[in-house]
Formats: sequence, C-alpha cells, structure tokens
Amino acid sequence: MTETTETTTAAAAARTVLISGASVAGPALAYWLRRHGFVPTVVERAETVREGGYAVDFRGEALDVLDRMGLLERIRELDTEMGDAAMVDAEGRQYATLPAVVFAGDLEVLKGDLTKMLYEATRDDVEYVFGDSIATLEEDEHGVRVTFERGAPRRFDLVVGADGLHSRTRALAFGPEQQFVRHLGIYTAVFSLDNYLGLKNTGRLYAAPGRAANIFTARADAEARAAFHFAAEDVEYDRHDLAGQRRLIAERFSEDGWEIPRLLHEMAQATDFFFDANAQVEMDTWSRGRVVLLGDAGYCAGPTSGRGTSQALIGAYVLAGELAASDGDHSTAFAAYEREMRGYVTEHQALGREGAERFFMPAPTQEILDMLAAQAPENTRTTPVLLRDYAAPPQPTPAEGTL
Ligand SMILES: Cc1cc2nc3c(=O)[nH]c(=O)nc-3n(C[C@H](O)[C@H](O)[C@H](O)COP(=O)(O)OP(=O)(O)OC[C@H]3O[C@@H](n4cnc5c(N)ncnc54)[C@H](O)[C@@H]3O)c2cc1C
Repeated sequence: MTETTETTTAAAAARTVLISGASVAGPALAYWLRRHGFVPTVVERAETVREGGYAVDFRGEALDVLDRMGLLERIRELDTEMGDAAMVDAEGRQYATLPAVVFAGDLEVLKGDLTKMLYEATRDDVEYVFGDSIATLEEDEHGVRVTFERGAPRRFDLVVGADGLHSRTRALAFGPEQQFVRHLGIYTAVFSLDNYLGLKNTGRLYAAPGRAANIFTARADAEARAAFHFAAEDVEYDRHDLAGQRRLIAERFSEDGWEIPRLLHEMAQATDFFFDANAQVEMDTWSRGRVVLLGDAGYCAGPTSGRGTSQALIGAYVLAGELAASDGDHSTAFAAYEREMRGYVTEHQALGREGAERFFMPAPTQEILDMLAAQAPENTRTTPVLLRDYAAPPQPTPAEGTL
C-alpha cells in the first residue's frame, strides 16, 4: 500500500496531529484542535466508542471547559443525580449513610456517556479510525512516520498519546510502563448488572478489612453498576485474561456475606467486566520531540483522586490552546502546556494518594461520614487552573452544521 504523506512542509508550523485514544482526552483534544484550525486524526484500539461504563464525576474548571465547548447543558442532562448511599454490614443492616456530596462531585455521569457525547460533537469534522493502534513511531526533522497494526503507514506533524494508563504511545516514545506507573495498593473491578435490588437513585456500600464492594443504580434506575475493591501490593495477573481476573476477585470475596455471592454471580455473567490496579503515572516531562502525552497517559492521578476526567478535559483545552498560541511551534507549545498543567496535576496526584490511604479505613461511623461531607467542598477545591482564553474562533451554531 502507498504511504500517505500528510506532513506540511518542513518550514511550516505543525498542522496534522495523530491522537491515540478516543475516550475523554482524545476527542476533547480533537474538538479544540479543529476549532483552532488543526487537522486531527484519532486512532482508537476498540472497534467502536465505548458506551456506558462506570460513573465519573467532574470538578471545577472541567465544567468551564464543557461550557466553552457548548456541551454543559447536554452533560447536565446526563447527570446520574445520585442520592445519598447506605453503608451495610455483612448481614445487610444499614449502619450509616454516605452523603452523595462525598462521592459524586459537582456532576456525575457514566463515563461512556461522556465519551459518546464528545465523539458525536467531533465526528463530522474529525477522522476517526477504530479498531487500530499505533505500532511504531519514527521521528525525523519533518514529522513522525507512524506505522499501525492494521492500517497503512502515515506521516503526521505531531503525535499525542491520549491512550490511558497503559499508553502504547508512552511506551514507544518514553520507555516501558514500569518506569512511570506507580501502584496505589488497590485493585478494582467494575461491571454492569440489572438493578435487581430495586434501588432508587442510590447505592449500597459494603466494607470489610482490606476489601470493599458497592452497587449503584444507573440510567434512571433501569440498570446498576457494581464494583469490587481489594487491597494488595503487586498482584501477578495477565491483563488479557478476564477469566483469571474474575477468579482473583472471587477468591478474595469468597467468605463475605451481604449481597456478595449474588454480585460475584453477576460479575461472572457481565459482558463489560473491567479490572485494573489503581495507579498513577509519574513523569518528569510529558513530551519528547514531536510526541506529547495527555490525560491518564501522561499524568493519571488514580480513581481515588476523583480528578482524572477533569484533568483530561482541561489538559486537552490547554494543549490545543498552546499549540494555537504558538502557531504550531510544538516545542514552545509543549513547554507552555506543561507549565500550565504541572501544579494542578501535582495537587491531584497528592489527593489520589491520600484517598488511597483512606480507602480501606475501618467501617466508618456516621459521625465520620458527616464530617467528610462537611469537608467535601474543601476537598473538591484545589488551586483553580486559570483557563486562558486561547482566542478560538467562536463556536459555530448547530445550524451551521459544523462542530
Ligand atoms: C473504576 C474507576 C473509577 C473512576 N472514577 C472517576 C471519577 O469518579 N472521577 C474522575 O474524574 N475520574 C475517575 N476515574 C478516572 C477516569 O476514568 C480517567 O482519568 C479518565 O477516563 C482519563 O481519560 P483518558 O481519555 O486520559 O484515558 P482513558 O479513559 O483511559 O482512555 C484511553 C483510551 O485509549 C484507548 N487505547 C488504549 N490503548 C490504545 C492503543 N494502543 N491504541 C489506540 N487506542 C488505545 C482506550 O481504548 C481508551 O478508549 C475512574 C477510573 C476508574 C478505573
């Protein structure tokens, strides 16, 4: 097959950008790059956009970014509007109430709903390639030659890794994952199931030493999501062996009461089972030459921070804005992107580590939970990111048929 040449001339500023990953960070970056006049292409390993999934919450300026994208009202319509949840013991007795403000942030949506919304806001103007992955990257002074697992090789001015905690882009450009990924000592499994308990906009949380499980309703109580968590240092397992991962969970929870046996049964049937270590990505720099990392790929703060989605959205806004402000001079733009984001990420990673340390605290009393709720606004407020106005052309109205 003929190699496609998409790089602009050597002297010209960067314009074509390959983004690896179509979850939160990737499509959000594609949106802003288009608005600034760049030509992004997104390659996603999955065959389609992943819908549904677990719930993620937003904090602070991420809502501002969604507003600037004209998506805030739509995302508000997707809010899970989760109410307070009950803590239960092994006999199913409710011994305390966890106020929603502690776990649902300023706004909570299913992650896949957010991804779908971002994809739909960009697909008419952005090339998406599903079911493929970058295989190799070869940089020269004019751009990056990229080979793919399935498609023909192509050239781009820049490459962005928005491919998550286990980023292939990071491995290719910076080195093996072990150099950058720090485990937080928690393993988590998440899956969908029927709302068989008949809960109404709420959840149940179960805690035992070193273990926790929960079930929350989703999609206006038509469905539910459940999670298992256990504490452990490095556990050996095959990331592609889902049956083995299910066995790991079943062994850890084999003695537990409450609804655990039923949840284990539901987990065995679930088609969207997800399992991973809670981890952070720590890097001295997020760019190398013409390759730059965005979102979890570059600076994952871990699920216990509750900030990953916000970081992905804000990072996308800043990275695209800095590329526009430097007129595509990637060295200047990448340095500015890092300057803008570094302090914010450092704070969130500290929150993620603190959250992980508290995660398996002994069954909390109502007094402690009320104290957490009272402090919640305090906890959710980190140093605000000053969202610069990068002077993108005004957002076209839907009637104009573009973004
Ligand atoms: C259980 C759980 C609960 C969480 N709860 C919250 C929460 O409440 N609030 C919050 O803010 N954050 C939460 N997070 C974190 C949040 O999900 C992430 O921070 C956020 O999704 C990061 O977005 P991203 O686009 O950077 O990466 P990801 O969402 O990880 O997306 C990476 C994308 O890249 C794709 N990909 C991977 N490899 C390749 C490849 N080789 N080629 C092409 N594509 C590839 C993947 O398929 C995926 O689509 C939670 C995470 C977990 C696991």
